[in-house]
Amino acid sequence: MDNPTTTKDIRLPCGYLDNDGHVVRDAVIQEMTGRTQTIFGRKDIKKEPHLFYKALMRDCLKEVNGTSSISQTVLDSMLVADRDAIVLQTRRLSLGEDITLEVLCQNPECTTKIFADVNLETQVDVWELPDEDAEDSPYAIQRLQVGGTEDAPIVRPVRVWSASMPDGSLTVQMRYPTVEDQMSASDDNDVVALHVLLGRLIVSWNARGAEEVRGPVGASFLSGKPLRQIDWLENAHLANSPGPEMVKNVACEKCGTETPARLEASDFFSSRAPTRGQRSTSMQRSGTSASRTKDSPQSG
Ligand SMILES: [Zn+2]
Repeated sequence: MDNPTTTKDIRLPCGYLDNDGHVVRDAVIQEMTGRTQTIFGRKDIKKEPHLFYKALMRDCLKEVNGTSSISQTVLDSMLVADRDAIVLQTRRLSLGEDITLEVLCQNPECTTKIFADVNLETQVDVWELPDEDAEDSPYAIQRLQVGGTEDAPIVRPVRVWSASMPDGSLTVQMRYPTVEDQMSASDDNDVVALHVLLGRLIVSWNARGAEEVRGPVGASFLSGKPLRQIDWLENAHLANSPGPEMVKNVACEKCGTETPARLEASDFFSSRAPTRGQRSTSMQRSGTSASRTKDSPQSG
């Protein structure tokens, strides 16, 4: 007989927009099993974390909006923010709240290996998007082309935000990235991948003295733009990224330098802390979570 697996009702931080533009936030997840673990053993998945997250969603996301028949379209058009929240919640349900991040100190004269204990419940902030009609809503819902071709466009309701460069020379409208956007923007060249992603997300581009450009645009659109505009656009995109913070800044105990540490797929499969060569760093945050025992040896 199969062992029963635990399921949990969760609330998505942004929510899936159905075809009428209604926000669906209710989902049910199931804990990971040995089957989920074997997916992670695939070589292609180790190289492409988003493939793993896709497989994990197939395996552990059981219901959206009360239905268990979840189409690939729903999975692909879900925001990356919601996908990340589902992945984090699944890890919490399966193996608990505690995770140890491992990163090399980014100070080139130090490069010490930093271990940082993170509590997924209390130390990972989640930015939830309010509903469209909320007073502080940062977006509006529009029906837009999100894929397909000129002849056969895929049109769906999406959330659109806008921002302007401080000198007023450029105003853009952008949408939040979906799983499909992220999958389409993989490239061996990280900058090309970024340009493809931003190009897909551009809804409109209004530069002073130029005609409005409606998106989505290809990667070559940005290659002709001044770097200061691209740099500003990337920062605006990051500043408008809802969902859980998947990157934590951790401090090096030796030199004090802060280094960004990303929550990786490999962090989700084991409750074991990595072999410790030095004391772990604990990220402080006022909270009441059961604190982990600092059991690592004192560094000499
Ligand atoms: Zn250091």
